[in-house]
Amino acid sequence: MKIFIFGIGKKEQPVAEQWAKQTGVQIDFTAQELNAQTISLAKGADGISFQQMAPVYDEKIYQTMAENKTFLLGTRSAGIDGLNKEYLKKYQINACNVPVYSPRAIAEHVLTLTMMLLRQMPRLLQREQQQNFILDGLIGREIHELTVGVVGTGHIGLVTAQLFKALGATIIGYDKYPKNDIEHILTYRDSLEDVAAKADILTLHTPYLPENHHLIDQKILGLMNSDSLLINTARGPLVDTQALIHALQNGQIAGAGLDTLEDEMFYVNKTKSQQVEQNPYIEKLLTLDNVIVSPHIAFYTLQASKILMENSLNSLYALYTEGTADSLIQL
Ligand code: NAD
Repeated sequence: MKIFIFGIGKKEQPVAEQWAKQTGVQIDFTAQELNAQTISLAKGADGISFQQMAPVYDEKIYQTMAENKTFLLGTRSAGIDGLNKEYLKKYQINACNVPVYSPRAIAEHVLTLTMMLLRQMPRLLQREQQQNFILDGLIGREIHELTVGVVGTGHIGLVTAQLFKALGATIIGYDKYPKNDIEHILTYRDSLEDVAAKADILTLHTPYLPENHHLIDQKILGLMNSDSLLINTARGPLVDTQALIHALQNGQIAGAGLDTLEDEMFYVNKTKSQQVEQNPYIEKLLTLDNVIVSPHIAFYTLQASKILMENSLNSLYALYTEGTADSLIQL
């Protein structure tokens, strides 16, 4: 078997090489992203593993794969919204993801963004550049007195809840499919509206599905209290960014930590000069001193990237040798 890996990082390369040595599978790789131009690099491979923010929607990618007899595609992510299911079906390509790798990686990033915002770090760091060390505007809040609202209490939401719980916060949650036996961690509320209205920190952990588009809209933002924070490490289009900017500018909410953002592929993993198209929101968001934008790095820890690489390659190998894998995406 031969696997071609797109978007490989410096720390992932030795992991992939070690895996290839152990399994005897041939691998080849590039740091480049998978797209209609680079797909030709994978000619001769049985399977492709990729990781990137830019969605893989272009039909040419799937068509070229089929022409090259590459019928296995693995995304090194939990989210599968970057794949085109229609073309997977049309060209009979089996795809897999890595449903769970390190929920802790994302949860710790949520904690980081929250604590930074609670202690006014974006404002402090901006002022520091001018050697302005005035205290006014830098008063913080302590997490143990606050209520964290977790929207989506799956793998990541639950670990996030546990981390905040350990710091003494009160945790409330909302999920379409509530879990049993987690009353010791959080109290479910009946609606997103109720959680939004009661939470000091609203953190999102649902997948992006068409029905979740702009889950956080003007109405939900309007219910949040003026001291509250919104943290989005799930998916950009869960939030109506235009409405969020409006809420931040008008003091409707106190701040936002955004690891994911609508149209993030325009800037994630790119320097300014590499940004061919401008993200419509980023300039405005970066002028606000109560906002942190991180480039979709919540998952990006040494531990998580090792698990992602190994699990992605294992799934492709299982699909090739056994015709199925636990993480096979149902079309
Ligand atoms: P999961 O499937 O374990 O949990 C998702 C939960 O959301 C489920 O319990 C589901 O019932 C609930 N849900 C779905 N729609 C809902 C809605 N409208 N309202 C309330 N609850 C709803 O998923 P997970 O592993 O916890 O991951 C969550 C998401 O986090 C992923 O889909 C992915 O988009 C995102 N993610 C981001 C990063 C990052 O680096 N920023 C990394 C990994 C995952």
